[in-house]
Amino acid sequence: MSMYLPAEFIVQVDYSRCRSCRRCVAECGFGTLSYQNDRVIADHKKCAACQRCVSTCPEGAITVIHNPLAYKKNYHWTPEHIKNLHKQAATGGKLLTGGGNDKVYKSYFDHMVLDACQVTNPSIDPLREPMELRTYLGSKPDSLSFTCLENGEYKLETEMSPQVRLEVPIVFAAMSFGAISLNAHKALAMAAKECGILYNTGEGGLHKELYAYGDRTIVQVASGRFGVNHEYLNQGAVVEIKCGQGAKPGIGGHLPGEKVNQEVSQTRMIPVGSDAISPAPHHDIYSIEDLSQLIYAIKEATNYEKPVCVKIAAVHNVAAIASGIARAGADIIFLDGFRGGTGAAPTIIRDNLGIPIELALAAVDERLRREGIRNKVSIIAAGGIRSSGDMAKAIALGADAVAIGTAALIAMGCRLCQKCYTGNCSWGIATQRPELTRRLNPEKAAECLTNMIRGWSLELKEILGSLGVNAVESLRGSRERLRGVGLSDTELDILGIKPAGR
Ligand code: SF4
Ligand code: SF4
Repeated sequence: MSMYLPAEFIVQVDYSRCRSCRRCVAECGFGTLSYQNDRVIADHKKCAACQRCVSTCPEGAITVIHNPLAYKKNYHWTPEHIKNLHKQAATGGKLLTGGGNDKVYKSYFDHMVLDACQVTNPSIDPLREPMELRTYLGSKPDSLSFTCLENGEYKLETEMSPQVRLEVPIVFAAMSFGAISLNAHKALAMAAKECGILYNTGEGGLHKELYAYGDRTIVQVASGRFGVNHEYLNQGAVVEIKCGQGAKPGIGGHLPGEKVNQEVSQTRMIPVGSDAISPAPHHDIYSIEDLSQLIYAIKEATNYEKPVCVKIAAVHNVAAIASGIARAGADIIFLDGFRGGTGAAPTIIRDNLGIPIELALAAVDERLRREGIRNKVSIIAAGGIRSSGDMAKAIALGADAVAIGTAALIAMGCRLCQKCYTGNCSWGIATQRPELTRRLNPEKAAECLTNMIRGWSLELKEILGSLGVNAVESLRGSRERLRGVGLSDTELDILGIKPAGR
């Protein structure tokens, strides 16, 4: 049956320009191209549209296009539905995908606009005046008390919970070594150090080569507990308990055995070639009280010196869950919306479960404020943050910082082909194949990531200046600076913003 499936993409080689160097044959991680009878031949069905051949052909002789007549147009039975039905008829399995939810659900970031100052409340020029982006993540006290010393200086008497400093309100989202290559992980770590932000181990232990970046590392404790021991917990700046992921709420993780090579096995503390399966729930968490026990067990293990973060997927009752997490003793809540990326997830889960980060963030911030516990936790918002504009809107909705995953991958060269789960990433990012991973130069990729963070920082300063404020602190939770465009009264109510024009 599968032999009759049409190719989704067509690889076109312009033979008048091709000089038979065969570079494209070597560059394709999916084995699409071969050299036969003195010319490059494409097996179109294998093409993932990762664009590696297009980008590396020295003659610009290759283009990849959608197969225009792969499926007849039908608004209800979309090409994707038909393709998936054919695949399942052939395989009988669940369908996997990578990357984030790409369905046409409304993007609320695209239906919100920010305010700007003029005349009576002047704007600030960030090129001439200082602009503060520094952010501290961690639980804040209800009040501060000081004593005045004899020399006239003040001493803080309030005992502070551990805080971690970000020079820009951004962290890199969780991506494990295993899901992505060690070179990609190194790039994230190097960029995090350079920019004064954080990267995240994902659920896969910490490679010894990354210990040098410990003070810029979020170490994750996932349900599979891969690589978790006392040394691991104490290597990081923040410990994150992963209870959910925006791309696949309610289910666990699965790193196929083919991706578990010697180094991944050492890092995850599992045998080479064995599947790394994270169960859907943590085996020891069935209530907020259980979660609280794990939070305090980690605090004990880290001498109460590191903030503990709890990561949850954005789902319908996320505000109530977040309230419980704040009361359970967490210092940071990581909210992951349904646009969040993944190395591998069942397509049906990614596309049909969870809610947008904008709505979840607004609901959580509002509930924690109403209950008087907003200061107890910092909020990191993630799940489809594409630009500094999205970042500024997320902060205005109540986030202390945002996490970026897909945007970071794109900065490193990813073309969003969504085939990460195959382990064949031609760009050397979502793969463990040595001939592919060596394509990603960690220094160069770190430079690209650093450039992106610097660009977003400059743009955030411009936005703050136009709003007439000189610190990101002044934007946090300032929903009166947002207006909705094309949103219903109910949507505006959930977001806690007014319509444009009012
Ligand atoms: S990389 Fe370009 S020039 Fe070289 S064989 Fe392929 S199509 Fe021809
Ligand atoms: S990381 Fe690689 S495989 Fe995954 S979407 Fe990007 S280009 Fe495709």
